Amino acid sequence: MVSIEVFQKITYAWIILALIIFPILFKVNPPYGRHRSKKWGPGINNRIGWILMELPTLVLFVLLFMTGDAPKTLVTWIFFFLWLLHYINRIFIFPMRIHTTGKKMPLAIIFSGIFFNFMNSSLNGYWLGYLGYYPVDWLLDPRFILGISVFVFGFILNQKSDTYLINLRKGGKTGYFVPQKGLFKYISCPNYLGEIMEWTGFAVMTWSLPGLSFAIWTVANLLPRAIHHHKWYFKTFPDYPKNRKALIPWVL
Ligand code: NDP
Repeated sequence: MVSIEVFQKITYAWIILALIIFPILFKVNPPYGRHRSKKWGPGINNRIGWILMELPTLVLFVLLFMTGDAPKTLVTWIFFFLWLLHYINRIFIFPMRIHTTGKKMPLAIIFSGIFFNFMNSSLNGYWLGYLGYYPVDWLLDPRFILGISVFVFGFILNQKSDTYLINLRKGGKTGYFVPQKGLFKYISCPNYLGEIMEWTGFAVMTWSLPGLSFAIWTVANLLPRAIHHHKWYFKTFPDYPKNRKALIPWVL
């Protein structure tokens, strides 16, 4: 068993790595989806790529949560359930719904995704399985109430926005279209905003260092990618709405 001191050191190191990678991702755009580039070497089917990349999040998290000897209260089970809710969708449902149109995901992305997911799910699974303790009265703590509200709102926003994007190719269409509905009227990437809200909410409701590290990594990944998507829309569609922002309505 890893001591709390060692665990904290690993988590701080992981946060520092996110802060180093964050500015780099504004320059180096991970080449999957619309930004796919052959320069990044061979790839495999997009759908299989998503499943392989995200699978460790479920396996490791469940394993560590279940084998750990920290007391499992109603609160920790709620955290467990929310993690499962997100990742069952991401691993088994989302990849089946996307229209891959023959696209491939580079192996380099899959391996870096596996590493990222290995770290996040190990840290959070170990925290909740072995180290954290949340008595039932945590349910009434403002941090829990605020965090779970932000998580649920973010989950719905992420789901609805991904669904909307996937449906743009309904009926066998291929290529890209300008999204027009809901929060897309204000920002290019509401699905990313929803994802960031989810893990920020998770960090607040667990009030934990691993939760914080996951939220920081999610921003480090998705804020630069939202900017790349946004610029891509302007470059690709001359009539793209000028007042639309990338990630935060009216702000950014
Ligand atoms: P995108 O928004 O790039 O794409 C989502 C899906 O919609 C893809 O199938 C994409 O096709 C399709 N799509 C997107 N825009 C359009 C459009 N304008 N017209 C037609 N189809 C479109 O999201 P990602 O693929 O980057 O991410 C998928 C999910 O994973 C998101 O919910 C995201 O939040 C989450 N994620 C989380 C991360 C984290 O750090 N926690 C990191 C990365 C993703 P195509 O693939 O062909 O472009």
